[in-house]
Amino acid sequence: MATDARISTGLPSHPKTKKLVRRLGPGAGWGLVCLFLWVASNRSDGDLSGMSTEDIELAADWDGDDGVFVKELCAVRFLDGEEGSYIIHDWAEHNPWAAGSKGRSAAAKENANKKWGGDLASQNAGKRSQRLSEARAKGTHTADQWVALKAICGPACLRCGATDKEIVKDHIVPIYKGGSDAIDNLQPICRSCNAAKGPDCTDLRPADWLSRLQVACETPANFGETPAPSPSPSPSPSPSPYPTPTLDTEPTVLVDTPAANRPPACPNAEIVDLYHQRLPTLPRVDVLSDGRKRTIAARWRDVLNDPDIRKSPTPRDAALEFFDWYFDHASKSKFLIGRVKDWRADFDFLMTPSKFVKVVEGHYHKEHA
Ligand SMILES: [Zn+2]
Repeated sequence: MATDARISTGLPSHPKTKKLVRRLGPGAGWGLVCLFLWVASNRSDGDLSGMSTEDIELAADWDGDDGVFVKELCAVRFLDGEEGSYIIHDWAEHNPWAAGSKGRSAAAKENANKKWGGDLASQNAGKRSQRLSEARAKGTHTADQWVALKAICGPACLRCGATDKEIVKDHIVPIYKGGSDAIDNLQPICRSCNAAKGPDCTDLRPADWLSRLQVACETPANFGETPAPSPSPSPSPSPSPYPTPTLDTEPTVLVDTPAANRPPACPNAEIVDLYHQRLPTLPRVDVLSDGRKRTIAARWRDVLNDPDIRKSPTPRDAALEFFDWYFDHASKSKFLIGRVKDWRADFDFLMTPSKFVKVVEGHYHKEHA
């Protein structure tokens, strides 16, 4: 079993990777890396026979909707074959990720772990399969509960506010971190946010979602257990640890979640100031539209997800420091500041999720410096 592996330097810019990330979000790129490392480590011939779609998505640490990652891997032809007999496309022939180059991947893994809090350490599909079963054993949900929750949370993605994207089930506490599959651990966010959220456990639902769900479903939700019709013919106290609303009198309570569970509020103006300071030649941001605020907030959360920043005694300062570094880093790319082409980056470009990752990784520095 290989303890290190090589990943082609062309992987991020490969058209297949670009299509995959475009369709499923940046999390799919990370999933691809995890999958290739898992394959190098466990199936060095690239033959995934005997692995189900679920097994492959677990090996890839795919945290999005069931089945879509493997479906798109097949569509862009990173995977050939069918359920139970998948193989990595041309793995043996090209073998761009063959074992070798000691230390390189280990260092990359360590850096990626540091930067983005990935969970490469646990690449054992058996363990993950077990985790998924455990998540379902901890709790499941009914289709009605999910439909009602989506109605309560509204049509927009709770994380980025997009209204034009497909909404998927997000496990608030990811199942690999012990989260359950019960409705109290689910929230509707868009596919891209779901793929990109990493180990973030922020509950983005309205504070009164539970009482509204109970009203919508007309019966107290049976959290933490497989929902089953109550054998009791008379109303009985809910086993839920949450307060059961009194249907006639329950007001719509707009209580915020406890401050301790919330990340520091997003300092929009300070982030824009840092952009102006570090990149004075790029177009100024004069209007902070709702769309821009949502985008800034999404990147703020991404940065706060970095374990080093999250564990810092002053996460807010550490995150702002990161943005300061980020814009300064961007200012060192001739391409981004418009010295290569008749084009230059702007604030919106730099805050787009996929561009954000590329700027951090130095993508625009390598090719055009
Ligand atoms: Zn979203």
